[in-house]
Amino acid sequence: MSGQWQADVFETHEISLIDEREFSPKRHMEYVQRLYEPTPRAPRKWRAGVLGATGIVGQRLVKLLANHPWFELTAVAASERSSGKSYEEATRWHLDTPIPNEARNLVVRGLEPTLDCDFVFSALDSSVAGAAEEEFARAGYPVVSNSRNHRMDPDVPLLIPEVNASHLDAIRVQQAQRGYSTGFIVTNPNCSTAGLVLVLKPLADVFGLERIFVVTLQAVSGAGYPGVASMDIHANVVPFISGEEEKLESEPQKLLGRWDGRRFVDAGLGISAHCNRVPVLDGHLECVSISMKKIASTEEVREALRNFEVDPEIASLPSALRNPIEVLDEDNRPQPRRDVNSGNGMAAVVGRVRECPLLDIKMTLLSHNLVRGAAGAALLNAELLAARGFIPRRAKHSAPRRSGADSVTEQVAS
Ligand code: NAP
Repeated sequence: MSGQWQADVFETHEISLIDEREFSPKRHMEYVQRLYEPTPRAPRKWRAGVLGATGIVGQRLVKLLANHPWFELTAVAASERSSGKSYEEATRWHLDTPIPNEARNLVVRGLEPTLDCDFVFSALDSSVAGAAEEEFARAGYPVVSNSRNHRMDPDVPLLIPEVNASHLDAIRVQQAQRGYSTGFIVTNPNCSTAGLVLVLKPLADVFGLERIFVVTLQAVSGAGYPGVASMDIHANVVPFISGEEEKLESEPQKLLGRWDGRRFVDAGLGISAHCNRVPVLDGHLECVSISMKKIASTEEVREALRNFEVDPEIASLPSALRNPIEVLDEDNRPQPRRDVNSGNGMAAVVGRVRECPLLDIKMTLLSHNLVRGAAGAALLNAELLAARGFIPRRAKHSAPRRSGADSVTEQVAS
């Protein structure tokens, strides 16, 4: 789908008034004709549901979906603690802006796969996400997940659109193997992996990668709410986050690897990760050393990062940045408090690019764990899926039928 298509379908008609001094009969007729031209209607939006909508990531999704040009929020679901309440009643809202009006009065539902929507985002706690996401996919819903449960499944795309959009080819294989009809699962990576791999991608393309050594300093919002007890994290650093180092060492292999038509082939990188929780609210900082196949100067590395431009298909998605990596020259940047919202939270911010005495090059990077590392990443994934025709529109209010049944009533236009 091109950027032009986007502009054509979503722009409203603008009619400028003709200045009296420039009046001519021809221009007047053009003006009158334009007045009576039917205004093109924006196509119906895809209806999105959010599983785990009351949590930290779910709230970000709810916020990002308000006024989204392609999607509207029509369903929210969470645990039994919340179901039956209005979204406003059920949610301990953490964001600085108020709860969007679209969400305020939605009734929170349980995890039965009968929601009134075309597809679901999953921001569920991992204790329930695995089974619930499968249930929704089996019932015909595309599932765009934040949770770790299915990330490394051999038929599930682990997706960063700017990095490995071609992995979406695995969806058809997943549907065939699992007997899903229109449903499927696509996931985004762990919040630390997201920023790291975005920065590694241009280096892999230009110089080739060999080994990566990374130390993370991760924000408390990465642990959900209430997360780490204040007495553990205040004026302290906790040098352990359960399961995090394993994710950071395995997920980049899949993301930077390839789909060969039947299976994912790992990138074969050497990766060692140390993960720490620090008393920062939002934003994961990572100190990275990298060895590369080709010798490169620090200036060449900086240029490769700065010049990283995503292809036009991805750049035309509403949440995408054409240049998703920002390179800072100051010695003391990036900093979470100052730089976390760069590119609306979708940029990876890099600084301190310098030679590494052990490997080839080292740098510091920062990304927003709740946006680039979670809600914004899922939104971008859903936009790519919609643009590529993977999200069928369902008839309003009809609960989708179970697997094997062709419950789709209207196929996506794009
Ligand atoms: P959170 O704040 O603890 O929210 C968890 C959500 O799951 C809440 O909506 C909660 O509903 C729901 N839930 C919990 N138990 C449930 C049950 N038994 N049945 C139905 N719903 C249940 O966690 P979070 O930080 O938003 O993380 C959500 C997911 O995203 C996790 O899988 C996490 O690993 C992943 N993730 C998080 C981040 C991050 O930076 N925080 C980044 C990437 C990925 P109630 O409110 O009703 O309890």
